[in-house]
Amino acid sequence: SRRGLLYGTAGVAAVSLAACGAGEDSKQLTGFTGIAMPTRASDRWVLEGADLEKRLQDLGYKTILENGEDDVPAQVAQIESMVDQGVEFLIIGAIGNTSLGEVLSKAKDKGVTIIAYDRLILETPDVDYYASFDNYQVGVLQAKHIIAKLGLTQDTTEQYNVELFSGSLDDNNSQYFFQGGLDTLEPYIYGGSVVVPSNETEQDATAIQQWDRKTARTRMAQLLEDHYQDRPLHAVLSPYDGISRGIVEALVDADFEPGSDDFPVITGQDAELRSLKAIKEGTGQTETVFKDTRQLAEVAVDMVKAIVGGGTPDVNDQGTYDNGFKFVPSYLLEPVDVTVENYKEVVVDSEYATEEAIDSAP
Ligand code: BGC
Repeated sequence: SRRGLLYGTAGVAAVSLAACGAGEDSKQLTGFTGIAMPTRASDRWVLEGADLEKRLQDLGYKTILENGEDDVPAQVAQIESMVDQGVEFLIIGAIGNTSLGEVLSKAKDKGVTIIAYDRLILETPDVDYYASFDNYQVGVLQAKHIIAKLGLTQDTTEQYNVELFSGSLDDNNSQYFFQGGLDTLEPYIYGGSVVVPSNETEQDATAIQQWDRKTARTRMAQLLEDHYQDRPLHAVLSPYDGISRGIVEALVDADFEPGSDDFPVITGQDAELRSLKAIKEGTGQTETVFKDTRQLAEVAVDMVKAIVGGGTPDVNDQGTYDNGFKFVPSYLLEPVDVTVENYKEVVVDSEYATEEAIDSAP
């Protein structure tokens, strides 16, 4: 069950005409695009900001690139300034998923086309397109890794202790990742082979605000102290590599030895270099979910290009992502499960990262 219907489907009729680039007058679009990325705390957004900029500039389009540093008012101000400078398109990786309504309404008044990038923007009729991944599938892959590593089957009678982490509550993706993971583990939880000793199984209780590594480290340390003085921990469902590394730090602080038999299975997301290194060397998490952000950048840029050329962007999903006003026409890419067995093929052979870069990650 995908939890997409957060706020109902009130305003389907509010789909904007400006999506077609028809401003007050129908002057020729130049492709001028504002790129608003959410943070530099995670590698992917830094790479993607630069990648988007380059792809747009290669098409001869002017760009403005800003980074919100995880600060909602700062991102709102940046977008406002882009609109004032006359952008025709906005590509936005939102920080607060419900905080952009007002500034987007101003943008829409000026005929700007708005593309939600990776993270859906909620509670506004003014999002025209959504470029992202199958975010529910991310959680499915993470949970499947745990199931495979622990060797769980329907006949498993032993009990495995698993703790759950979820992402920032203001990021619309978090619920999809978490729900995908939970739904996949559910039969084992009901069957009794997976137990969550902390009883913290709700998104609220497991959330790590701003996806912050140190917050994850603190929560893991607390869980160990409260629930694992004399029981083993078999696995941790972690939604993102930075969080996974915080979890590993807490385990190491508590004298768990990475790579040893009693080190828990830990998942992740984003194929960050440090995490790939841990996967490769067996020194921490054993999995990450790779989302090819080069493809995502390409999808978003293709949307801009299509509209500049007088056409309509390609979408492949119109019924999954409801932002409270409408199902936003989406182009969704497939995430890929990465372990020590296939990291070379998936990440290195595709030239996302070199072996040297992985080896020399700090
Ligand atoms: C993205 C993830 C990323 C997380 C933290 C999410 O919105 O989809 O890829 O790990 O934000 O930056």
